[in-house]
Amino acid sequence: MTATKPRGYTPGQLTVHADPPALHAVTRTLKGAGRRIALVPTMGALHDGHRELIRHARLAKGASVTVVSIFVNPLQFGPGEDLERYPRPLEADLEMCREEGVELVFTPGVEDMYPAGADTTVSPGALGDEMEGAVRPGHFAGVLTVVSKLFHVVAPDVAYFGEKDYQQLVLVRKMARDLDFPLDVVGVPTVREDDGVARSSRNAYLSAADRPRAAVLQEALRAGASVSAQGPEAVLAAARAVLAREPALELDYLELRDPDLRPDVRQGKARLLVAARLGTTRLIDNITVQLEI
Ligand code: AMP
Repeated sequence: MTATKPRGYTPGQLTVHADPPALHAVTRTLKGAGRRIALVPTMGALHDGHRELIRHARLAKGASVTVVSIFVNPLQFGPGEDLERYPRPLEADLEMCREEGVELVFTPGVEDMYPAGADTTVSPGALGDEMEGAVRPGHFAGVLTVVSKLFHVVAPDVAYFGEKDYQQLVLVRKMARDLDFPLDVVGVPTVREDDGVARSSRNAYLSAADRPRAAVLQEALRAGASVSAQGPEAVLAAARAVLAREPALELDYLELRDPDLRPDVRQGKARLLVAARLGTTRLIDNITVQLEI
């Protein structure tokens, strides 16, 4: 064993870890040898959106080792949500990681992350109860708890999150700042299907009839962004008009906020965010909007 090749790590090869202390020992040794650690947290069922995060991690400046975590986190699912039926194609996921040159994958079991009696959680603050948090109570406490544990286990220098889950990205960034995690949180633009629908592991749930209807979310956001020069009310009205054209869509929220998700944005850079249900499938999306200064 050398300083750069601890047990449980072989350069250029994929090693899978399920045990948190074992992975921690590996990343600590690699960091001690001057390697940067990049983390891409996922729930698996990897698609081109995740691939993009991995590529950003792999291509980042400075010699880095990329860790992809694959863990369907029960804490972030509410009662009646899709925890049990969430897809778990582990072999295909590992194959994608191999293709992308990932060297470390973390696949803990629920009991590894939450041993019996573990009931300490991270509280997200007020933003955690808004938008996604209003529809999915406790969701962001579950997300931040698992992300903080991943940050402790992996000790990354940098972690990558998708803009597709924009509120999650903002809350993780805020947690890293508020709780003094010494790392950079990097947001990666949303990867879309040809018709503009954001790639998501949950798109697989959509019925053949609902699949084309999902594109209306992105159309609505683009319609809103296209009238940004006319001010926030015009942006919201244009997006709402497009959403209203699709009767199968049940809107959870449509919000225009500043880049840190503070409400009442009047000018400058903003985010338009939407969430809706098509049948039993929830879809979310967002777009950047430049309001007149
Ligand atoms: P998930 O496995 O759904 O928890 O997602 C893991 C990470 O991948 C999160 O940071 C997501 O925001 C990100 N992600 C999921 N879908 C996309 C997408 N279409 N484009 C970019 N990032 C994505």
